[in-house]
Amino acid sequence: METILSISNLTKKYGFITALNQVSFTIKKGEVYGILGPNGSGKSTTLGIVLQVVNKTSGHFEWFGGNYSTHEALKKVGAIIERPNFYPYMSAYNNLKLVCKIKGVPESKIDEKLALVKLLDRKNSKFQSFSLGMKQRLAIASALLNDPEILILDEPTNGLDPQGIYQIRSLIKQIASQGTTILLASHLLDEVEKVCSHVVILNKGKKLYAGPVDQMASTYGYVELQADNQESILAILKAENIFGAATVENGLVKAYLKKPVSTGYINQLFFNQGVVLNHLVARKETLEEQFLKITDQL
Ligand code: ADP
Ligand code: MG
Repeated sequence: METILSISNLTKKYGFITALNQVSFTIKKGEVYGILGPNGSGKSTTLGIVLQVVNKTSGHFEWFGGNYSTHEALKKVGAIIERPNFYPYMSAYNNLKLVCKIKGVPESKIDEKLALVKLLDRKNSKFQSFSLGMKQRLAIASALLNDPEILILDEPTNGLDPQGIYQIRSLIKQIASQGTTILLASHLLDEVEKVCSHVVILNKGKKLYAGPVDQMASTYGYVELQADNQESILAILKAENIFGAATVENGLVKAYLKKPVSTGYINQLFFNQGVVLNHLVARKETLEEQFLKITDQL
C-alpha cells in the first residue's frame, strides 16, 4: 500500500527538554492514524515538524515516498493545528472564498465542502455567529478545499460539547470513508478507539506502541486470587512461568497471565500445591487500563 508519511527516529529538543525521542512510525494511504498520549507527550511537536512549522533536532520524515520536495508535498496536505481563525464579520462562504484565492482552488468547491461539513444552510452567516463546533467544521471544510491526500487535526474535539464532539467524530469517519487519509492527535483514548484504525502511543516523547488500534497492548488479562495463606500464593506465582507481574490490592492478589490458560487449570495448579483458593476470577483489562498501564499512569 502507498506510504503517505514515514517518520524515523524523529527527535526534538527544546533546550534541556526532549519533546520527542527517536520516534518512528509509518502512515499508509486510507488509514485513520491517531497520535495518542497525555498532555506534553509530544503530539503537537510531531505534527509541527512534519508540517514544517517546528524544526526537528534529528531524525527524518518523508512525505509520499519521498517523490516530492516537502514544499510540494505539503500542498497535498490539509491541516488544522490551531484554533480555527477566520474573519469574524465575514460569512462562512466569503471566508472560504478567500482561502480559495490563496490556495488557487476554484470557488465551485466551496458549496461541496460546506455540504460535507453540514454548513451549507449557514453559508451566509457570519463566522462570529457560529458555535465552536461549527467553527471547527468550517476549518475542516477549509482544509479540504483543495482535496488533500491527508487531513491533519490536532485535538479536533477539544472544548466541544458532547453533540459537537459526536458531529466532528462522525465527520472524520465520513471523510476517511471517502478515501482521505487522516492523522489526528488526541489525548483521549476513547476518541482514538472510536475514530482511528491505527495509533502511535507517545509518553514523554517516547513511542510506546505503533500499529492497529485493535492490537494495542493486547494481553491475556489477569486473575484475581485469594486464599487463607497469601504468601503461598505469591510463592507459587513466582515459581510458575505462566504468570507475569503480580500485585496485591485489598487482600486480593492480581496476577497477569503470560499465556492463555483456563481458571480450571489455575485452580488445579494451586490445589496440587496445597493451596485452596477461595477467590479465583479471570479478568480482561479494559483498553483504558492497558493504556494507563503502558503510559505508566496507573
Ligand atoms: P502534546 O501536544 O502532546 O501535549 P507538545 O508536543 O505540545 O505535547 O509538547 C511536548 C513537550 O515539549 C512538552 O514538555 C512541552 O512543554 C514542550 N514544548 C512544546 N513546545 C515548546 C516550545 N516552543 N518551547 C519549549 N518547550 C516546548
Ligand atoms: Mg498538543
